[in-house]
Amino acid sequence: TGKLYLVPTPIGNLSDITIRAKEILNQVDYIAAEDTRHTGQLLKNLDIKKPMISFHEHNTQEKIPDILARLESGQTIAQVSDAGTPAISDPGELLAKAAIEQDLTVISIPGPAAFLTALVASGLDVQPFTYVGFLPRKKTQQLEKIEEIKVITHTTIFYEAPHRLKKTLANLAEVLGENRRIVLARELTKIHEQYLRGTIGEIIAHYTDNDPRGEYVLLIEGMQEASEEEISSEDLVVKVDQKVAAG
Ligand code: SAM
Repeated sequence: TGKLYLVPTPIGNLSDITIRAKEILNQVDYIAAEDTRHTGQLLKNLDIKKPMISFHEHNTQEKIPDILARLESGQTIAQVSDAGTPAISDPGELLAKAAIEQDLTVISIPGPAAFLTALVASGLDVQPFTYVGFLPRKKTQQLEKIEEIKVITHTTIFYEAPHRLKKTLANLAEVLGENRRIVLARELTKIHEQYLRGTIGEIIAHYTDNDPRGEYVLLIEGMQEASEEEISSEDLVVKVDQKVAAG
């Protein structure tokens, strides 16, 4: 039978396409692309000519049987999203799962992913980590999700659109307080790449005079166990008592 390749593409800098990704795109029978115009441009830059199948979040269910049938008949297909690794907050997950269920071969090609690029240079603890994808947009659901994140003791990562960033920061402050440390990794691999590191309060202050622009990865430091502000007054009494007893 055929093979389904999950092929990552650049998240900004076109030089980040890997040699192997290029080889695979050149070899396959078809490329299943989230946006055929966008991928068409990439293929043009790489000097690759290939027939494409449109595969995006609104036609996933409808296209999966067709793609599976092609794989079963022996065709090879590369799946690409607009940027980064397919299935990472992008279409692709359901196709990969469906192919695996049919005992078809699925091959993941390593390459760019915004969250991993951000994590390793964030300065926060790298492992373990939780990748959330996009937060829910509705305020109540977003606050609920942040409540879940609040007690995670390791780094949490999510994606956010620039026009929603200020509201999300305000919601983070509401649930996590202003002192939790966060990192914003912006425009990774592009000209205006930037890391903003600070407390939620500091980052909010930064954006009172600047409007968020570009693409963002947001990372939240894990809950610090027994940090000073979290020690309750009861704990303090115990500590003082112990001191008195010892002295
Ligand atoms: N599949 C992609 C990946 O592997 O990272 C993610 C696709 S998701 C639809 C797009 C989101 O990823 C953007 O809204 C942004 O939060 C994040 N992102 C993509 N490229 C980025 C970049 N160059 N710098 C920062 N964040 C980026």
